[in-house]
Amino acid sequence: MAWSILAFYWNDPYINIYKFDMEINELIQCYFCFESFEIHVDPFPGKNSEIWDCTICCNPNLITYTIENDNILRLEVSSGNE
Ligand SMILES: [Zn+2]
Repeated sequence: MAWSILAFYWNDPYINIYKFDMEINELIQCYFCFESFEIHVDPFPGKNSEIWDCTICCNPNLITYTIENDNILRLEVSSGNE
């Protein structure tokens, strides 16, 4: 009984779709107020950069990161005002 339930979930196509769309959650430190807040990035391989407003002081943080094998290898936070 338990095995058949497991097999049902393994064959569920929505699990694979969800995994494909999965974001990486990363806790970063704000460039301006030094508080930590969480960002969500898409796991596309290569170098990416995004502006994230700090959830505490609302200043724009420029996040530059490199992704390989669904992991963030290198992440830098700088001012998004420049
Ligand atoms: Zn801040």
